[in-house]
Amino acid sequence: GENVAITELARLMGIKANEIVKKLFEMGVMANINQSIDAETAQLLGAEYDIEVVVKVVTEDDLIPKYEDKPEDLKPRPPIVTVMGHVDHGKTSLLDKIRRTKIAEKEAGGITQHIGAYEVDLPQGKLVFLDTPGHEAFTTLRARGAQVTDIVILVVAADDGVMPQTKEAIDHSKAAGVPIVVAINKIDKPNANPEHVKSQLAELGIIPEEWGGSHQFQEVSAKTGQGIDELLERVLLEAEMLELKANPKRPAECVVIEAKLDKHRGAVATVIVQNGTLKKGDVFVVGAQYGKVRSMFNFIGRTVKEAGPSIPVELMGFSEVPEAGEKLIVLPNEKLAKQIADMRKEKKREKEMLEKSKVSLTDIFSKI
Ligand code: GDP
Ligand code: MG
Repeated sequence: GENVAITELARLMGIKANEIVKKLFEMGVMANINQSIDAETAQLLGAEYDIEVVVKVVTEDDLIPKYEDKPEDLKPRPPIVTVMGHVDHGKTSLLDKIRRTKIAEKEAGGITQHIGAYEVDLPQGKLVFLDTPGHEAFTTLRARGAQVTDIVILVVAADDGVMPQTKEAIDHSKAAGVPIVVAINKIDKPNANPEHVKSQLAELGIIPEEWGGSHQFQEVSAKTGQGIDELLERVLLEAEMLELKANPKRPAECVVIEAKLDKHRGAVATVIVQNGTLKKGDVFVVGAQYGKVRSMFNFIGRTVKEAGPSIPVELMGFSEVPEAGEKLIVLPNEKLAKQIADMRKEKKREKEMLEKSKVSLTDIFSKI
């Protein structure tokens, strides 16, 4: 069951701790002042003083402050886009082409290292691209309960058509409830057959608007750049319908999309802000560690002091490398952050002990 520290109980009951230890002794319970007693004993003890003791387990949910977003504080946020599709259909090429052609020259030149996501500014609005194509990133993040993608660009090569991973991508997107915009790629190739791709996708329920369906299609070439502007416009159009909003005024909630141990800089992670604004100096908890935002860089490697909803930033200020998919939550103070990190550590330890005991049981059985 749950245990209560004697000192804590004494404080709550307004009775000296050594007086409680004495009473416990009279009740036949041997305990010293630094120990804990179980909930039942605490209740019996309370009864001795005519005090009703209610033991309630405090979870981190009780401790993390809740914020009600006022409707007027909700502001539009840029869509976060993931590129998916069958191997060799041009996901990487498309992401590269967009990065090279759509990020202002001086900024593109400033990109010293890839942080796992980048921003594209169009006259109609901003888009954020997750820079790791493929289904793995998507499913790893989703498996950890993090949904970072608002729109999927499904890349299908016009010379190859629908392939197993095309279908997989459709299934993942549907399961996540994320809308799909189709990019029929490699239309520069002589054997490109976009009409065939359309009919194949239509059979899978991805029906182009021009055929009365609800999906936007765009023919593109990641090689020549043809159709890319139009593709981005379609994605923004799709995003408009989603009415994506967040509250930049609240403390940040982020998701780790990449993390590593850097030889010179220690543990660094790229996070995407999902709600609120992340600021330099913010105290946070992520996984079972807590930390403080020591420095923060945008996607072109410039130092920034804050980052609002949908914005990817690289962070320093961890004590260990966090895991992709973990939520990073900003808390009002270090004491609370430590308390929550400790609770999580304790939980982790309990889980590990349980796993270990399972292992030793199987060991015993295998010996028998
Ligand atoms: P991924 O596996 O989906 O990331 O595919 P890649 O981007 O690595 O592309 C696979 C191959 O297709 C590479 O050799 C690319 O140069 C080529 N490729 C990608 N896009 C196009 C395109 O639009 N036109 C042509 N002709 N080749 C392309
Ligand atoms: Mg690739």
